[in-house]
Amino acid sequence: MRRKLVAGNWKMNLNLVSARALVTALRERLNNPSSAVDVVICPPTLYLFPMAKSLDGSGIQLGAQNVFEEPDGAYTGEISVAMLADAGARFVILGHSERRHTIGHHEDDRMISRKLRAARAGKLIPILCIGETLSERKAGQTLEVLTFQLGAALIGSESITAAELVIAYEPVWAIGTGQNATPAQAQDAHAHIRRELRRIVGSAAADNVRILYGGSVKPDNAAEIFAQPDVDGGLIGGASLSADSFAAIVRAAVPSAEPAAAR
Ligand code: PEP
Repeated sequence: MRRKLVAGNWKMNLNLVSARALVTALRERLNNPSSAVDVVICPPTLYLFPMAKSLDGSGIQLGAQNVFEEPDGAYTGEISVAMLADAGARFVILGHSERRHTIGHHEDDRMISRKLRAARAGKLIPILCIGETLSERKAGQTLEVLTFQLGAALIGSESITAAELVIAYEPVWAIGTGQNATPAQAQDAHAHIRRELRRIVGSAAADNVRILYGGSVKPDNAAEIFAQPDVDGGLIGGASLSADSFAAIVRAAVPSAEPAAAR
């Protein structure tokens, strides 16, 4: 059985004081490190080090929001996998739609694939984001887009294991819009991703890879989405900036047999 994972993407929000306060509040609300849910927060890169300290002993893990693919060298302003790991990160978000589509980044599938291979080589677990735009969904191209983005990102990583990879299905039209995919839409996309994964990395890995849903997850819609058979948790943007909301979303991911895991 796949263990649920809930990751918070803080994006370029908070400052050192408010970030520390958020972690303190989260620790109070998620007081059981042996919870049945893996919890990850992804602060801005500069705050990884101080957050690692603030999280010590909490069971909450750290992720970065991006990485550069080269190990070192003349790459002014970039951060390597080893540097992120040094700062305490275990996960790294790759291919987020804001980096694929927002002016100034325009990350393409080849770059994302290189980053994924670099992350794996450095033992960081990629949270690979894939998802269709609204016009692609309206044109009936959702599954095609997912197939393409997944296949392109995993070129050269066909031997990856389930422990080395997390996928996040993030329909672009649902990110930060307040308009989430319905549980059925999420399940359709996740089932398709898992089928494609079987083809690329084999059944053993595909059946155990965690596929998160991301896009306007809130405390009031999380449980229904997380209850879908191929939804293994969530990647949470806006709602991860509130300890109450994020903790409620984590609680929604706890299997019902273990309600005491988070309070
Ligand atoms: C995200 O940015 O990955 C995300 C899912 O954002 P939100 O939850 O705010 O839609």
